[in-house]
Amino acid sequence: MTQITEKQNTNNLLNWQFDNQFIQRLPADPETGNFRRQVLGACFSYVTPKKASSPSLIAYSVEMAEELGLTDQDCQSELFKQVFVGNQKLKGMQPYAQCYGGHQFGNWAGQLGDGRAINLGEIISDSGQRWCLQLKGSGETPYSRSADGLAVLRSSVREFLCSEAMYHLGVPTTRALSLITTGDDVIRDMFYDGRPQSEPGAVVCRVAPSFLRLGSYEIFSARGDSETLKTLVDYTIDSFFPHLGTPGKQTYLDWFREVCERTADMVVDWMRVGFVHGVFNTDNTSVLGLTIDYGPYGWIDDYDPNWTPNTTDAAEKRYRFGAQPQISQWNLLQMANAIYPLIDDAEALRNILNDYVTVYTDKWQQMRADKLGLAEFKAADEELHQEMNRIMLLAETDMTLFYRHLADVSIEDKNKTDDELLSPLMVAFYSPDALSQADKKDIAQWLKAYLSRVEEDGISDEKRKTKMNAVNPKYVLRNYLSQVAIDKAEQGDSSLINELLDVMRHPYDEQPQYEQYAAKRPDWARNKPGCSMLSCSS
Ligand code: AMP
Ligand code: MG
Repeated sequence: MTQITEKQNTNNLLNWQFDNQFIQRLPADPETGNFRRQVLGACFSYVTPKKASSPSLIAYSVEMAEELGLTDQDCQSELFKQVFVGNQKLKGMQPYAQCYGGHQFGNWAGQLGDGRAINLGEIISDSGQRWCLQLKGSGETPYSRSADGLAVLRSSVREFLCSEAMYHLGVPTTRALSLITTGDDVIRDMFYDGRPQSEPGAVVCRVAPSFLRLGSYEIFSARGDSETLKTLVDYTIDSFFPHLGTPGKQTYLDWFREVCERTADMVVDWMRVGFVHGVFNTDNTSVLGLTIDYGPYGWIDDYDPNWTPNTTDAAEKRYRFGAQPQISQWNLLQMANAIYPLIDDAEALRNILNDYVTVYTDKWQQMRADKLGLAEFKAADEELHQEMNRIMLLAETDMTLFYRHLADVSIEDKNKTDDELLSPLMVAFYSPDALSQADKKDIAQWLKAYLSRVEEDGISDEKRKTKMNAVNPKYVLRNYLSQVAIDKAEQGDSSLINELLDVMRHPYDEQPQYEQYAAKRPDWARNKPGCSMLSCSS
């Protein structure tokens, strides 16, 4: 038995070994002063997080902590709080902000960068996974432009909860370790209407193998800096796509194909669970195919492909729910343009982009089949699906509840009256009284067509239900739920944040003690700020 020596640290944070490949392998900004500037020929700038006056731990993710080798005791320690609010550095941490650019709302926006994110360093967990730790909201960097580098509690609660909810839903995402209030106020004009207010500041520690975005490559290409572009691409492939082999023209193409593939998987999952990113700009599109940068995102309550939660995008609705697949392709086109100088073969890149349509369609067809409990998506299912989308628009229909309760309709129900057939689904309608007799007839007819299709597959009701419930969540992070948790947290009660975190640990399971969180959006939340309308101001 090994003897426990006095030197062994009781707090596992002190045993972390940092391996900061990003800053070791990529060119640094030689300027270390913390002032706004254009940073040329470098992938990052060294920075120091801002000190918080009175940090307080609001929540942490047990699963993320465990992956990083931390116990509950470690997470509740004073050291944890000081480190993840940015007040204290662990040995080996070398804080830096990344330089990147991006297309925002369809236009090239030039240099953006980590304006309010500070990377602390990278560790490799016992599972062998590399994790970069990043504070969001811990002060100014050279990339802060006209803003303050800070984050308010409301946006931090949303980022923290959604990161972990998405993880448990099985959607590729960056993660969140902790949510800590700073004790300092932050001024925000939430709706850009000239009424700025003081709000509590907070810092989320985000975690991901890498926070590189499509905009990370675009910036060097836009500046004609092919050398740094190549260094960054080679580093990305070596570190995160090592199975592709030695960097070279073919490897770059294979890499682009894999980025497309991963992006398709991510967007299919968004469409599956009813997630709307809200600001799906290229600087908010991860090269690893992770959902990144939770800002004015939202969850579909009533099914509406034209809905966007982002008030900043209310006129054009560029990032509406139903447009996300097309936008992902547009973003990937920008990436193709960005890496073109390394490949010099437009045709090859164009082929991959054209294939993206097929790649996405195939994945989406399989997902649509899964959501309906079908073995595979047959050509005739397109019509069935389109008719389903039409009937979901006849009266406000909760998307999550519709799919979940569709699993409760039985093949035997086919011979029942329309009302009996519809009864398991009535809970999904926001105003059941708004359904006319004709609407009900259409829905019943669709249900019969659906059940006939299910019968063709020869799968039992029970098996179909199990299959459907594994992809159609019972619980999603409904917009109003987060807002209620935020309202309480702003009054000093963080219990609902932790309760929602707990609910979202098992989004596909029946959790009788949490039944209320599966209910559709209450009427008071329909047009309430934070519940359906969000701005980029956070
Ligand atoms: P977003 O659309 O939220 O992803 O942000 C776009 C750009 O604005 C990124 O470069 C962010 O780092 C930056 N940004 C957003 N909010 C702030 C802030 N409060 N302070 C500094 N930079 C910010
Ligand atoms: Mg962003």
